[in-house]
Amino acid sequence: MSKPLKQNPNAVRSRKNYHAWMSKGACGRCGRTPRVSKTRCAKCLVEILISRRALKVRVIQAYGGKCLCCGNSVFEFLTLEHSNKNGSAERKRLHVFGNEFYRWLEVRGYPKDLGLTVLCMNCNFSKGKYGYCPHEREVAGG
Ligand SMILES: [Zn+2]
Ligand SMILES: [Zn+2]
Ligand SMILES: [Zn+2]
Repeated sequence: MSKPLKQNPNAVRSRKNYHAWMSKGACGRCGRTPRVSKTRCAKCLVEILISRRALKVRVIQAYGGKCLCCGNSVFEFLTLEHSNKNGSAERKRLHVFGNEFYRWLEVRGYPKDLGLTVLCMNCNFSKGKYGYCPHEREVAGG
């Protein structure tokens, strides 16, 4: 099994380290600390979490930074959603999900033509389940 693969020499080196570190029971990312998950140490797990969170913050900010429906700006409650119904189809077409989707958006400079809106969990859930949000009724009902 020796297929000629085009590889970045740096990637190869880090992969070599990765196996050496893994066989020692060390973290496969930094190689310095014993791992607590399959491949990562506690420190790296936190770092990955923080960097993912920071990425999501940047993306949410780029698309308005608060719920389009109720104005909630508590980051932890906010999600990025397609305002049109074919959201999942669009994502399938793009072949990117979750964190990868955020990275994809960032790399492309947060395109505004994808029909993406920021919604909080409450409004998103209500719209998804009932097709409307109680906040809209408040406004409509006066
Ligand atoms: Zn580590
Ligand atoms: Zn909301
Ligand atoms: Zn709402």
